[in-house]
Amino acid sequence: MPSGRFAPSPTGDLHLGNLRTALVAWLWARHDGARFTLRIDDLDRVTSSEANAVRQLDDLRSLGIDWDGDVERSSDHFNRYDAAIGRLEQAGLVYRCYCTRREIAEAAAAPHGVVGRYPGVCRDLTESERARREADGRRPALRLRGTGRSVTFVDALAGPTTGMIDDVVLRRNDGVPAYQLAVVVDDVADGVELVVRGDDLLSSTPTQIHLAGLLGWRSPGYAHVPLVLNHRGDRLAKRDGAVTLADRAARGESVAATRTLLAASLGLCRRDQHIDLATLRSRFDPSRLPRTPWCWNEPGATG
Ligand code: GLU
Repeated sequence: MPSGRFAPSPTGDLHLGNLRTALVAWLWARHDGARFTLRIDDLDRVTSSEANAVRQLDDLRSLGIDWDGDVERSSDHFNRYDAAIGRLEQAGLVYRCYCTRREIAEAAAAPHGVVGRYPGVCRDLTESERARREADGRRPALRLRGTGRSVTFVDALAGPTTGMIDDVVLRRNDGVPAYQLAVVVDDVADGVELVVRGDDLLSSTPTQIHLAGLLGWRSPGYAHVPLVLNHRGDRLAKRDGAVTLADRAARGESVAATRTLLAASLGLCRRDQHIDLATLRSRFDPSRLPRTPWCWNEPGATG
């Protein structure tokens, strides 16, 4: 019975894709009565807001999703993150990076660069090169000194997955701990045994598993849920129509109907069937979850 969690970023209302992932995470934990934690991933103070968090929690509750204990907030856990970064620094696994986003994008686009992966510009700077950048007024972020190796793990939905360890940011240059570090620290602190989340994070997982290992921790298991796509095959976004519970309510669609839509997309019921949470819970079978994206196209969305 792996305990689970959902960790939304409070950057806006949850859309059908987020709600569907939350439902899978909840069902996976709760169908066998395991613990479920709700954590607001609010480290980014610019894009996060408490008002968004409150609406997200209301939407989850109205779908019937519940959780154990108080809602957690990443912004309450700076001490934990600082301690973990301190340990990595002491082990010589951290370096200062002065790159701007633009410089990283340019270096990654160069012939040997890999888009989405830090190209290593600041990995081996000398003391005087660092001093020059600091004299220019650049504030460093802290990055993990990656190994250039890969990690393989078996994802409960995506199957065997291999990915390179990235030199991810551990502390941003404004001093705020970064998501890649925080998520590892929090999942271990919360005793999470199975992380169920959208498969846009599948490629980050090898680095997160590596980070947990460096800190002497056993990683949770992972199940990455295929994303919801719009009719063009792109990731679902707000502009794709009635994608939030508020949008759907404005069109006269009940929360129960949206729950049925999501459950049908997971192969748990038919579109025209009323289904309550208790029934969903008893029917849930992880081995039968879809392994491909759900293409959502209103009207006439198919389950
Ligand atoms: N907060 C992240 C998001 O909403 C998810 C983090 C996670 O589940 O690891 O995309």
